[in-house]
Amino acid sequence: GKKERVDKILSNMGYGSRKEIKSCAREGRIEVNGERISDSSIKVDPQIDDIVFDGEKVIYREYIYIMMNKPDGVVSSTDDPINRTVLDLLDDKYLVFNPHPVGRLDKDTEGLLLLTNDGKLSHELLSPRKHVDKTYYVEVDGYVEERHVKIFESGIILDDGYKTMPSVLKILESGYVSKVHLTIKEGKYHQVKRMFEALDMKVLYLKRISIGNLTLDENLSEGEYRELSESELLALL
Ligand code: URA
Repeated sequence: GKKERVDKILSNMGYGSRKEIKSCAREGRIEVNGERISDSSIKVDPQIDDIVFDGEKVIYREYIYIMMNKPDGVVSSTDDPINRTVLDLLDDKYLVFNPHPVGRLDKDTEGLLLLTNDGKLSHELLSPRKHVDKTYYVEVDGYVEERHVKIFESGIILDDGYKTMPSVLKILESGYVSKVHLTIKEGKYHQVKRMFEALDMKVLYLKRISIGNLTLDENLSEGEYRELSESELLALL
């Protein structure tokens, strides 16, 4: 591993500002490998060295992975002069890890949004060449019928002339307002809405329910979030 200053490690992990950590050390609240340290600027290897803060072992980690059920009305960019962002919903103890949303959902789109500071994972999930499946629950103004399944399967030409890759349409309910699941392998701007628009149908409600092997936890209500479990993370990597 790499050596880092104790105050940097602890403040990155959300134990307080560097200044606060410094005074905690002076107060004798930090131990490294069983020894009290008074100077938090000393460098240790967080993967190997044992750090104890207020008598509790610090479980070191570098990365954080959060699944959020994004609510309507919140933007998924990291800063916005007008709108609330998904980062505004996160507790400070997570913000210290500097997580970023993996891709974007429209302001009015709800559902699964992953936030992480793991740039490599983020890149892999977003890379157009990886074709990671994204599944959406969609409510559409208009009759979606079995004949549409083949149309989505063969690719849809969007308003800018781009032809989408094959997508999988599953009809849950067909009616004046139809309910479907749509799985796409790309993430063009407003893609799902534009695919239905190309067929003269308007998306009334859009919610992402999965990315690759990761499915939105149904126990999370709008705006709620939690860290990924170990098995969810392993399935995603
Ligand atoms: N497709 C859309 O049109 N909007 C989203 O937010 C995601 C996919």
